[in-house]
Amino acid sequence: MVSEPLKSERTAAFVGLGAMGAPMASHWALRGYLKAVWNRTPERAQAFAQEHHVIALQHLGELPTTAKILALCVSKDEDVLMVIETLLEGLTSEHLVIDFSTVSPDTAKLAAKMVRRCGADFLDAPVTGGVEGASHGTLAIMVGGRLGSLEKIRPLLETIAAKIIHMGDVGMGQSAKAVNQVLCAGINEAVTEALAFGHHLGLDMEKVIEAMSGGAAGNWFLDKRGKSMLEGRFTPGFKLGLHLKDLEIVAAMAQDLGITLPLTETTREHYVQLLEQGHGDDDISALYRLKRPN
Ligand code: NAP
Repeated sequence: MVSEPLKSERTAAFVGLGAMGAPMASHWALRGYLKAVWNRTPERAQAFAQEHHVIALQHLGELPTTAKILALCVSKDEDVLMVIETLLEGLTSEHLVIDFSTVSPDTAKLAAKMVRRCGADFLDAPVTGGVEGASHGTLAIMVGGRLGSLEKIRPLLETIAAKIIHMGDVGMGQSAKAVNQVLCAGINEAVTEALAFGHHLGLDMEKVIEAMSGGAAGNWFLDKRGKSMLEGRFTPGFKLGLHLKDLEIVAAMAQDLGITLPLTETTREHYVQLLEQGHGDDDISALYRLKRPN
């Protein structure tokens, strides 16, 4: 574990410079925390490094000798485990690994077990707030793991988040994020269905969005994605294929609990249809494709 309270010195490295990771890492670079980055597609890391004056590492295994705080924001469970496995050899009690990706609680627990065997510590720290939250540094972070480790890196997290909530032991950050993803599924169904209904009624939908915003039916998704979905623009944002991955995690968790989540199941089926039609890399608001009037 990092032994001293964190100072603003180049002590962190970031893996995964996608839609979320790149803006998050940018905040760390701007505040002087970031030393190095690694990305599967090296051109992305090189471009980022050039812009932010940090090191683009060629090999993942070089990360532990370069920085003490190692952050990840990659797509899926298997990607997180692949990264962690590659880091293991260089990890010591000086290191803290923090995973911002959305994965299953079981993956978080397995990652923590592997990392802690080396004497280092691990936090699962999935985020919510979208690419807008990442860019503005206003994410909410749901953290699982030792409170002491969280407190040591709190200043670093405060550069990217408006809310940092310690949920409990490792895995509980991801459990909270699963709840968030169930909410997002239901909101997506409600917003896309309501906008298609309004369109059928012949309403001026921009005025509808303006009227609803801030009222009892107003919500982040309607505000941020309502207008673009009406215009048929589905640029991510949050890729539909990634939300489907989250809903598959949720389905497995619900099965373990012996409960059903009918609304979430409907969204999952809708996403599978859209994925089969080739829309997996669209924003999740592409659900409107299934509902809009022809
Ligand atoms: P993204 O734009 O697709 O970026 C994914 C990143 O993961 C890229 O850097 C990608 O590298 C890397 N990656 C993918 N597979 C990999 C592998 N096998 N090995 C190493 N690196 C790999 O996704 P994102 O939207 O940033 O999402 C990242 C995570 O945050 C996901 O778990 C997602 O569910 C979660 N999340 C997303 C949002 C959102 O609104 N977008 C919000 C909250 C949480 P390449 O550049 O080589 O493709």
